[in-house]
Amino acid sequence: MKSLVILAAGLHFATGIPLDTTGGHEHPTPSSSFSFSIPPSLSPTLSPTPGPSPTPNPGESPAGCRLLNTDAEWPAPDAWLAAFPGVVPGNDTEAANRPDYILAAMDVETVQAAVKFAADNNIRLTVVSSGHDFLGRNDAPSGLGLDISGLTGVKVLESFTPSESGAESPSGDVNVIEPVPGQQAAVTFGAGMSTQALNDAIDSSKLFTIGAAHGSVRTAGGYGQAGGHSPFSSKYGLGSDQVLEYKVVTADGELVVANSVSNPDLFWALRGGGGGTFGIVVEATVKAFPTPSVTVSNWWINATNADNPGQGYWDAAAYLHSQFPVINEQGVQGYYYVYPNAMKGIFLTADEQAGQEAAQAIWTPILEKLAEFDGMEPAETKYTDFSSYKEFYTAILGGGHGGCGHQHKRAIAKRHDGHGATPMGIIPMDSRLLGKEHLESQDLAQALQDAMPQVEQGQLRGHLIGGGAVLSSTEDTAVLPAWRQTYVHLIGTGVGDFKVDSLRKLAPDTGAYVNEASHENPNWKTDFWGSNYERLSEIKTKYDPNGVFWVTPGINADEYSIIDGRLCNTASTDPDFAPPGDNKNPGTSSPDNETGSPFPGTEPDDGNCTSPTPELPADFYDEPDLDPSKPGKDGATVTKIKYGPYTLEAMDMISNRPDLNMETPCKDCYITAIQANLEYEDGTTANVNTGAWLHHMVLYKNGRDAEDLVCNFGGIGLMPQRIYASGNERSVSRLNQVLQYGIELGSSDRIGMIYDLMNESDQPATYYLTLTYEWLPSSTSGYKAAEMAWLDITDCGVSAVPAQQGQFELRSDGWKSTVNGRLLSASGHVHNGGVNTTIWLNGEPICTSRQVYGRTPEFIAPPHGGHGGDEGDDGGHEHGAEGKPSISDAETCVDFGDVKVGDELVVSAYYDTDKYPLDEAHDGEGFESIMGISRVYIGT
Ligand SMILES: Cc1cc2nc3c(=O)[nH]c(=O)nc-3n(C[C@H](O)[C@H](O)[C@H](O)COP(=O)(O)OP(=O)(O)OC[C@H]3O[C@@H](n4cnc5c(N)ncnc54)[C@H](O)[C@@H]3O)c2cc1C
Repeated sequence: MKSLVILAAGLHFATGIPLDTTGGHEHPTPSSSFSFSIPPSLSPTLSPTPGPSPTPNPGESPAGCRLLNTDAEWPAPDAWLAAFPGVVPGNDTEAANRPDYILAAMDVETVQAAVKFAADNNIRLTVVSSGHDFLGRNDAPSGLGLDISGLTGVKVLESFTPSESGAESPSGDVNVIEPVPGQQAAVTFGAGMSTQALNDAIDSSKLFTIGAAHGSVRTAGGYGQAGGHSPFSSKYGLGSDQVLEYKVVTADGELVVANSVSNPDLFWALRGGGGGTFGIVVEATVKAFPTPSVTVSNWWINATNADNPGQGYWDAAAYLHSQFPVINEQGVQGYYYVYPNAMKGIFLTADEQAGQEAAQAIWTPILEKLAEFDGMEPAETKYTDFSSYKEFYTAILGGGHGGCGHQHKRAIAKRHDGHGATPMGIIPMDSRLLGKEHLESQDLAQALQDAMPQVEQGQLRGHLIGGGAVLSSTEDTAVLPAWRQTYVHLIGTGVGDFKVDSLRKLAPDTGAYVNEASHENPNWKTDFWGSNYERLSEIKTKYDPNGVFWVTPGINADEYSIIDGRLCNTASTDPDFAPPGDNKNPGTSSPDNETGSPFPGTEPDDGNCTSPTPELPADFYDEPDLDPSKPGKDGATVTKIKYGPYTLEAMDMISNRPDLNMETPCKDCYITAIQANLEYEDGTTANVNTGAWLHHMVLYKNGRDAEDLVCNFGGIGLMPQRIYASGNERSVSRLNQVLQYGIELGSSDRIGMIYDLMNESDQPATYYLTLTYEWLPSSTSGYKAAEMAWLDITDCGVSAVPAQQGQFELRSDGWKSTVNGRLLSASGHVHNGGVNTTIWLNGEPICTSRQVYGRTPEFIAPPHGGHGGDEGDDGGHEHGAEGKPSISDAETCVDFGDVKVGDELVVSAYYDTDKYPLDEAHDGEGFESIMGISRVYIGT
């Protein structure tokens, strides 16, 4: 019993050879160029990530192919560091299959140096600005990955006149202007600026720009260079139509100006020809428009028979589409979803066409007619007015996730977001652009039904983003000409293999939006660029004769193919399809009950949308969520086990309840990663936005030799061996990011936990606590056992200390290590109010784990506020103050040093309660206690 008391208290855990160097082509002679310099060097202690098996004869690189790191010509680590002080090995910061080196460029000179280095040394180069590319063109398993998301700066212009020298670059704080009526305002900005950051920055000038629905997408990146649709593109045109000037680093490392008077051919190509192809855009100037008043029309309509909605459902869906050309004339643009048994709309009207009354007048007859089709239920609607673009965007689309929730009958695929410029992997989709005649076609109902992906989370995502200015644009850009007949961009998506061939049959002469299309789209050149392809190909050859920039699908992609893990100048053989790439990283896609949307990032606003969603800092390592649908690292089995059910009354709490004998994922195995979650019966996530709190859980191992590394009380066995813990942030603990370690489970070992759950809603709720494990058999070659050191500001005490206000730091006395080993990974846990935890090794800080609040809507309390649980030994909490963001992410330090027997490890926790308010205690007297814990995995 004593051991249990200590457990419950001590573990209380709240929560070039240059490629065909001339290729028979001449180098371009850009009409404007800037100087370039290579940054100074730093200390050389770097070794590259082992690359893919290169050739039958390692050390030799075949002619016409990019180098691999095993080739004799591959630059030595010193050479990399001499060129780029900030370069890091690809496996230091990211998942597997990344480039050998990754460089975050914070200035244009570094971009120039990187391009020159790659070109001179025959190194594969990939460029990433947000990482959102669905086709994975931002990543490769070899070479140099260049992250340009650090290129920032914004300068607002009353007007823009193109010149050979280009627009003045931004410097200092963002300026504010008074837009001049009748004059086209503009904004010059660094290419690392996200859609949302750019628009937030110019809001003070009462302006906005055309950008993606998703706040993290880079306006000047692959988005605007390949077309780019927006919530307002019907009104103002495509993203490519907005561009007035680009500053571009070309394949020879020169910085050139591309606008209507300087390099006009490159300017034309960059407005539709695609990202990663002609050069690296480092700065852009685009049109800016007066911030609009906006009315958002949300609606939802179910088919009565969810399992078999019948013909009436598809007829209703076709009817809806037939109305789009009509209502687009009335200023309606936006997004809609056709699920297998329900439809959802998020449409907007702006300025003189805004207003709830006008919106209702448009939608009421259409929705009533939809309900009249056989087997359809009446629609639910909500109309909301916003006084500015920023207000609209923050509430409905803000921060890269779809606003807030509405329960629908099918889960949707959610794109893991917020990793700055980390490539997010490949997501399957197939799409078609549809014109008026296709939307009004008698064949549409059948085509929609046939196009519906028959896979998990299969759905059609509709974008009424054409029409209007997309049709009438007079801009001479390289976008697929079929855009100028397009009203709707319709995507099929889901988890698995599918095609929207029925839409290709319905609209054989249109094509598809290359950024949101299938890599296996046949007739790729015609479908993605149409009659512009030939001119684009010539411009590509002129500016990049040696293929320094290569993406697939992309212009002239078929001049190269991947052979034995290398990019080689060997034409691909199948003219119908773009050559396959070698990005091996699948996209993170997980079921999502209601909040978060892969794109266009729109969800109905049910009033819960209170906070913009912050992005993770660019240098923040967030261990990716575990995905039971795919093998884990090194082929690990991923097993998700549901523990429960746990039923809680309204405003109820389960406090530190033990489960002593839990189902284990494996025997005689190494657990290499673990993640906790709280779910409802149907597998959807239960979180703060619905009043559900995974307040804490601590997992431990019980077995013959199982004993906690830190608090073993002299080896008297009072404390089982702690192996994992989670608060509501639900972080992943992984032991094998770099080295091969896991928590060993023997054949007779058992696992148990204590858990503490809260229901702060006013309804009873049933939860399941899930643990997802990655594991490998203990016979797996190279793997060894690791242990977890629990560092706690109360050392082996009760973890919780009384609340304090303000800015302060709390430190542990420290633990003298009893092992020699490698510090594999660590992440911190604090309560709301906490900013970070830091681990100190013999007095030196070696790992700081920052906390991020409310990054996704699930972590933001609903407007009705929370209710304090009034049971349990911690006195209950008022966690859910209205709209309050709670901790959603804890940073992970990876492979951060060695520890020796006798070394002192201390943990400190830094709080700033002015910035992040504490949670109030339920009785209104004081605040919840404070914690500071770090879970440190040590490989011995
Ligand atoms: C959640 C989500 C929402 C989306 N919403 C929309 C939407 O509303 N409208 C829309 O049209 N599309 C949307 N997209 C698709 C988006 O346009 C593409 O993913 C696009 O490739 C993103 O460009 P990026 O630069 O932000 O991404 P990245 O993945 O960083 O880059 C995409 C491609 O462009 C290249 N590239 C990036 N920056 C530069 C640069 N500065 N110079 C040269 N090449 C560069 C990269 O090498 C890569 O080939 C969405 C995608 C996601 C994942």
